[in-house]
Amino acid sequence: MLEATGLMVFYENMLALNNVSIRCGENQIVGVFGANSAGKSTLMYALSGIMLDIRKKEEMAGGERITLTGSIRYRDQEIMASKSSRRARLGIVLCPERRRIFKECSVLENLKIGGYLATAAQAQETLEYVFKVFPALTKLKSRLGGFLSGGEQQMLAIGRALMAQPKILLLDEPLLGLSPLMQAMLMHATREIRDERKISIIITEQYARPVIPIINYAFILENGSAVLEGTREELMNNPDVRSAYFGI
Ligand code: ATP
Repeated sequence: MLEATGLMVFYENMLALNNVSIRCGENQIVGVFGANSAGKSTLMYALSGIMLDIRKKEEMAGGERITLTGSIRYRDQEIMASKSSRRARLGIVLCPERRRIFKECSVLENLKIGGYLATAAQAQETLEYVFKVFPALTKLKSRLGGFLSGGEQQMLAIGRALMAQPKILLLDEPLLGLSPLMQAMLMHATREIRDERKISIIITEQYARPVIPIINYAFILENGSAVLEGTREELMNNPDVRSAYFGI
């Protein structure tokens, strides 16, 4: 459903993505694993089109030159030149790293803001779904985003992304800084979201271990290059991958 081929991103002369090709099929959960600075967020920005906004902002400010090339096909359309807003309307929705929720808005307001692309009926139905998949948010509806725990903020960030009616959800390091228990809960919910809403999901993380139970396929990024890919079993059977990304 989403296939990127030969993605290259330069920040000035610094090569952040080097000829990266990845894909995610319908109803799949695809992992992208890589250490700090491997290029995970850069990849998510490229797929969601946010990179075009960042490039434009930099150009207007006379800042660094960002170069972006390659191809991204989504359901047989080339979308490499499409703006992030168009991609969001097509159903490609990014849930960014570090959550970026609105701290001065309540949980309910955050969710409603996320539903700006939805019809009133869709927004209502999705809102009910968000509280079903993340019951902990139900009693926090009127709490300000800034007063939530890290795990609650992450639930809210995913809930807000769901309100935008994604067909493919890009989760950038959703487990960062969370307890193992919270990580397991979020991964369980992520699988439920794929199964119940028929949403494909690409998820980046530094460590594969908490994510591995839910993925169909994964790619390993190192210094901006996709160095390895495979099914869960293929990666688990690779001793280098096991020690570097699974901590086994
Ligand atoms: P992390 O886990 O730390 O978020 P990451 O895998 O998401 O890492 P990216 O944020 O994509 O990595 O960064 C890839 C490389 O590009 C890094 O070396 C980073 O310093 C560099 N980089 C990212 N954004 C910019 C920018 N706006 N300008 C210059 N260099 C950047």
